[in-house]
Amino acid sequence: MLDKARQLLQTYFGYDSFREGQETVINYVLDENSSLCVMPTGGGKSLCYQIPALMLEGTTIVISPLISLMKDQVDTLIQAGIPATFINSTLTAEEVRETMEEVQNGQYRLLYIAPERLESPTFLNQLKKVKVPLIAVDEAHCISQWGHDFRPSYRAIHRLKEVFKEHPTVLALTATATPAVREDICRLLQIQEDNTVITGFARSNLAFSVVLGQDKNKFLKEFIKKNTNEVGIIYAATRKAVDLLYDLLNKAGIQTAKYHAGLPEAFRNKEQERFLTDEARVMVATNAFGMGIDKSNVRYVIHYQLPKNMESYYQEAGRAGRDGLPSECIVLYASQDVQTQRFLIDQALDRERIPQELEKLQGMVDYCHTENCLQQFVVTYFGEQNATKCGRCGNCTDSREVQNVTKEVQMVLSCVVRMGQRFGKTITAQVLTGSQNKKVVDFGFTKLSTYGILKGKSLKEVSGLMEFMIAEGLLSVDHGSLPTIYVSDAGKEVLLGNRLVERKGVAVTKQIANNDPLFEKLRILRKKIADEAGVPPFVIFSDKTLQHMCAERPQT
Ligand code: ADP
Ligand code: MG
Ligand code: ZN
Repeated sequence: MLDKARQLLQTYFGYDSFREGQETVINYVLDENSSLCVMPTGGGKSLCYQIPALMLEGTTIVISPLISLMKDQVDTLIQAGIPATFINSTLTAEEVRETMEEVQNGQYRLLYIAPERLESPTFLNQLKKVKVPLIAVDEAHCISQWGHDFRPSYRAIHRLKEVFKEHPTVLALTATATPAVREDICRLLQIQEDNTVITGFARSNLAFSVVLGQDKNKFLKEFIKKNTNEVGIIYAATRKAVDLLYDLLNKAGIQTAKYHAGLPEAFRNKEQERFLTDEARVMVATNAFGMGIDKSNVRYVIHYQLPKNMESYYQEAGRAGRDGLPSECIVLYASQDVQTQRFLIDQALDRERIPQELEKLQGMVDYCHTENCLQQFVVTYFGEQNATKCGRCGNCTDSREVQNVTKEVQMVLSCVVRMGQRFGKTITAQVLTGSQNKKVVDFGFTKLSTYGILKGKSLKEVSGLMEFMIAEGLLSVDHGSLPTIYVSDAGKEVLLGNRLVERKGVAVTKQIANNDPLFEKLRILRKKIADEAGVPPFVIFSDKTLQHMCAERPQT
């Protein structure tokens, strides 16, 4: 069967070999197994149903929301010698009638339709007379409310089930691979989740990195000067930030263009043109820039502020290195940018989706704090299994020494437990560093804070450590109206002393030296308070104590 498929690939499309994943998907389809194919944009999803359409008896139906692209897709197939047609709202009633007659006569291998068609009983009735071996659902994330582009008409796809006596195989295709979306697609289209093929998210010419805690403007200017002959895109989260950066870079003598939705169209087009022709080597833009732009020599994509989720990030960063040459993707991270994104999420969306969006934002924050391979983090996020380390990213090439931070991590975790696991990061960090501010006092943590078990470290250091712990899955975040942190299962293992935690770079948690006068003071203080309270000051709990304490976490 696959020999035949390969032969068709060569004959009709002129390609010698399949890309990763294509054969697996085609195999599923030919074995009449409904399946889900997840590949990034440009990964080659279309062939996964076009080749089977040539091999299966009857007409394959392709459901696609992209009405404007349908005609092009069909024209391309016709040029390749494959009989195909489409039905959507751009056709007159007469044209629809004629096309359906031809379809019923079996003149086409593929019929592209817009999902709205499925809401018409007349159309469904006409379909009854057609032999359909395969239904390809393109952009299948549109069926899920968790997707970024929910289309209610996609829910009508299940009506097709009632139309055909012999159930056609279903092939869902999407570039959106978050678990929630995948689950939804499989459930709604009755696909076994095991029949999911996810591949091709790794981009072997991209080197990812995250820059933490640096002067961003300084970094940018230096980076661009160093790469002065290269073309790059800088994404900022707001129009205002774009305007500011634009001025900053032009003043620094760097030919820079800008693009955001608040600029007059003529100006935007001119700026885009300047960038496309390399007159301006740097483009500063909001996420409004880039859709449909095909500029192959972009050598770097820098995010001046972190984007709202991994999906956006990977799409935007992926505009680097389209030509396959080594390129860089950098996020400049500052924790206040997380607040900006939280604010934007809070403003823009319908209330119901806020928790979901906040969870996705957390994924982005985790990316910035992980110390594992960044490429691996990305493709794992998108659901690829067995991803290997890339050897190129900022973390893979980070040669700083690994430090054992188990003790500090235990201190944080034990404090979180003692606070009842229903508070946020900030107040926890304040308690850990011994603050006695109003909030700490009001919530009744005066005593706990007196322990100040991470006194001697700055709030920023402790927050950084906690972000690292969240990224490593030792602490989890509950995204309510106010996010709260709690100890994850992995975190419990650390608290029980079963697990070691290592962190790269300068120890965030500076040890207080034994001969530091503060050390003795702290020791006495801790002992005094511990005696009074009748509890050990901190760290390692017994299994039972821990279970008991963790059980107190309010369930949400
Ligand atoms: P997607 O729908 O996943 O975004 P497409 O199906 O439109 O991607 O394919 C993107 C491009 O890759 C097309 O130009 C297509 O011809 C090309 N392509 C697909 N499969 C192969 C292959 N096996 N070998 C070479 N090029 C391929
Ligand atoms: Mg496609
Ligand atoms: Zn790596």
